[in-house]
Amino acid sequence: MINIPVSLEFFPPKTPEGMAKLAAARAELYALKPEFCSVTYGAGGSTQMGTLQVVQAIRDEGAVGVPHFTCIGATRASVGETLDGFKAAGFKRLVALRGDLPSGSGSFGEFRYATELIEAIRRHSDDHFHIEVAAYPETHPQARSPEADLKAFAAKVAAGANSAITQMFFNADAYFRFVDEVRAMGIEIPIVPGIMPITNSSGLMRFADNSGCEIPRWMRLRLQSFGDDTKSIKAFGLDVMAALCERLIAGGVPSLHFYTMNQSAATLALAGAIGH
Ligand code: FAD
Repeated sequence: MINIPVSLEFFPPKTPEGMAKLAAARAELYALKPEFCSVTYGAGGSTQMGTLQVVQAIRDEGAVGVPHFTCIGATRASVGETLDGFKAAGFKRLVALRGDLPSGSGSFGEFRYATELIEAIRRHSDDHFHIEVAAYPETHPQARSPEADLKAFAAKVAAGANSAITQMFFNADAYFRFVDEVRAMGIEIPIVPGIMPITNSSGLMRFADNSGCEIPRWMRLRLQSFGDDTKSIKAFGLDVMAALCERLIAGGVPSLHFYTMNQSAATLALAGAIGH
């Protein structure tokens, strides 16, 4: 029996039906005894009320709710107000991110990088919040170079990040190399792998391509060969992701963060497959 801590990620649904489905999924996923459940935040304004609604529901259900918080398009005053709201609602942990400009357009606002948001959080709220940040074992798609991206990550830690969650990846070596490189820079914070259970192929490929995650050729070809055969896609996905998690656990990862996509079945199956 492997007993590694896990955390879960949700996104705020846009409809009352979606909210009800998510509540049902959460009720099932609490069987995993997650360390915390985080909820994404729509960069630039969309779905931010939904984030608060979901994270408060998680808190009211007795679990630890963690809001994501993006700074793109924000002002220093709006960041301060949001932090005060999170504190008043009893939250002590945040995932601090830059976010992306909606469809690549619009204005950055008063913040250009996540580092500036972390600095603002520390200035405004001292050490009230445990700050999680994003990490990119395969390099952020907009980074000038892998070295520049590592420096950007180190800057987030220097600004006050307490731990990191990675972008999804399918290549364990990329993760282990990233961890080795940041440790060589003297960075000690936990770097938790972000795990995406596989439930379909076209959505996964689109999402991976947009976020700079490489789907290895052998996996892509296999997934494509299944066509609309969801059962085979899920069985293959479970097999591949269980093997990845087992390798990560054997390599000493501190915990696993599951991108649930608001569904319980795939995450429960994967956690079960690794004996959680
Ligand atoms: P940063 O760390 O600021 O990095 C962004 C880019 O800027 C990188 O290429 C970096 O190399 C570069 N950079 C940083 N500092 C400098 C500098 N000083 N000079 C030059 N270049 C620099 N998005 C959402 O909208 N909502 C969410 O809730 C959300 N949750 C996420 C959760 C996780 C775990 C992850 C991995 C991603 C999430 N994202 C979310 C996506 C994220 O917002 C995007 O990947 C975004 O493009 C980068 O955000 P960041 O916080 O990593 O930015």
